[in-house]
Amino acid sequence: MKKLALITGGAGFIGSHLAERLIYEGYHVVALDNLSTGNRDNLIHLLNHPQFELVIGDISVEADLAPLVEQADIIFHLAAAVGVRLIVDNPLESMMTNIRGTEMVLEQARKWNKRTIVASTSEVYGKNAKVPYTEDDDLVYGNTTKTRWSYACSKAIDEFLAIAHYRECGLPVTIVRYFNTVGARQSDQYGMVLPTFVNQALCGEPITVHGEGTQRRTFTHIADTADATYRLAMNENSAGEVFNVGGSIEISIMDLARKIIERTNSSSTIQRIPYEEAFKNNGFEDMQRRVPDCSKLDKKIGYKPRYSLDNMIDSVIEYYQPVERRAALA
Ligand code: UDP
Repeated sequence: MKKLALITGGAGFIGSHLAERLIYEGYHVVALDNLSTGNRDNLIHLLNHPQFELVIGDISVEADLAPLVEQADIIFHLAAAVGVRLIVDNPLESMMTNIRGTEMVLEQARKWNKRTIVASTSEVYGKNAKVPYTEDDDLVYGNTTKTRWSYACSKAIDEFLAIAHYRECGLPVTIVRYFNTVGARQSDQYGMVLPTFVNQALCGEPITVHGEGTQRRTFTHIADTADATYRLAMNENSAGEVFNVGGSIEISIMDLARKIIERTNSSSTIQRIPYEEAFKNNGFEDMQRRVPDCSKLDKKIGYKPRYSLDNMIDSVIEYYQPVERRAALA
């Protein structure tokens, strides 16, 4: 019999790529998604696949979640509020999804003692100025009036919950901290910089650089993210541990804007937008540099990012270009 993998948030950007990988590896995949930020279109190529099923439901509703956890051999918990824009605009709902949802998933996983992977984020490091980040570094946050930190805190609570389930109940759970993952199917609706800039460039609109554009990020190709997640999940020795999953290419946001204009051959100009304007009155603080140290991951599963930044930008251009062309012709 085929093994069954449950992906919460399976209609999301990362979830849909992970579903493909698991099917390729011979798993039957059930994607549970409430389609709040996930999108059925992300799975359109899998909907009729004999090894795939999409269940529309909510991780916070026991009747939706419990039967799927009971059947699953392994759980990938990816359902979460994502994107700085979404979190800053809807902090309450975001915190509820992240904290209550994860509590429910872990509680059910514990009931049946199921191997679980919990998706976390590089946001948990907050504004710690020490880079690169290693997994046991301090998490440094700003004041509670700055909404952004509610996201970091809610994901840190998810991690605390997961580690407590491992230590107190023996749940075989592993935490992955994703760093700025990009690729096809990532929506530009929730403020992520790379799909936003690519769409702006393809439409010939100004590229909206927040602040001075000196803030720096490293980007990870979704194929590397899905590969690392799958291989860590298969490695039972990773239970109870936290792993950074990220890239090695660091670039300033201003240079990213320039690079995207060049690769799309766009007539777009660069427009600097003060943070106060970009994030209205919701209280915002950005981090200047975010770079992962992935040596722990490398040691565990032999991880080396395989894609260049140009590859990543091109795969997003390829994904959005036909849509933009159709819109322009309409
Ligand atoms: N950013 C930007 N213009 C945009 C969207 C984002 O300059 O239209 C900046 C954002 O302020 C941050 C960086 O790009 O400094 C990365 O933003 P993203 O939301 O993609 O991820 P983050 O690293 O902040 O979680």
